Amino acid sequence: MPERRRPYVAGNWKMHKTVAETAAYMDELKRVLPADPPADVGVCVPFTALAAAVEAARGTAIKVCAQNMHQQAQGAYTGEISAPMLVELAVNGVVLGHSERRQYNCETDRALQDKVPAALAAGLEPILCVGETEEERDGGETERRLRHQVQEALEKVPPEQLGDVVIAYEPVWAIGTGRVATAAQAQEAIAFIRALVGDRSKEAAERVRVLYGGSVKPDNAAEILSQPDVDGALVGGASLDPNDLAAIVAACG
Ligand code: PEP
Repeated sequence: MPERRRPYVAGNWKMHKTVAETAAYMDELKRVLPADPPADVGVCVPFTALAAAVEAARGTAIKVCAQNMHQQAQGAYTGEISAPMLVELAVNGVVLGHSERRQYNCETDRALQDKVPAALAAGLEPILCVGETEEERDGGETERRLRHQVQEALEKVPPEQLGDVVIAYEPVWAIGTGRVATAAQAQEAIAFIRALVGDRSKEAAERVRVLYGGSVKPDNAAEILSQPDVDGALVGGASLDPNDLAAIVAACG
């Protein structure tokens, strides 16, 4: 019997919270989280707040993640941040390929092909975001889109490291819209993503954590999180309130 995957709930703050707000948030999150939460808990914070979040998370199990990084370790890439820079801050992970970065910042599957292994090589846990648009879903293109995104982004990851990647299935039409996917839609897409990983390594498919993201709130989390292949949630808007993030963590129990 394979070991049960530990759920993971990560809050993506997007472009929210100053350093002062981060310290207050972390104090409240530490206060409301139980000593032994039923899931790994992470916060994905703006670059400017990473050091404050790491400091506040010290001595707890809360993971601190960045929201992007460059694939090169250093170089003439004005405005970019590299994996070694995040590691120096004792950051634990990094969100890669979020749909907002694909939409507004020209993030490409080709760049992700280098970003995912660069994060792993540096000791950062990547949270790779994939997901179809509404037009793709309506046009019956969901699986084709997911196959392309997953295969391309993981192409340079060796099979024995595939299970170290966290994948977030985030249908674009569900992000920030209040239109959460049904539990059946989330389960179907995530089982498909797991099978894609399984095409490379059966062991990795059992181990890889695949989260759902898109309008997860305390009142809809339990149903989605109860699906057999859904290993947790990447939470945007609701994560801005530490009480709501903690309530979603509790829904994993
Ligand atoms: C996200 O930003 O990854 C996300 C899922 O946002 P929201 O929960 O607000 O839809």
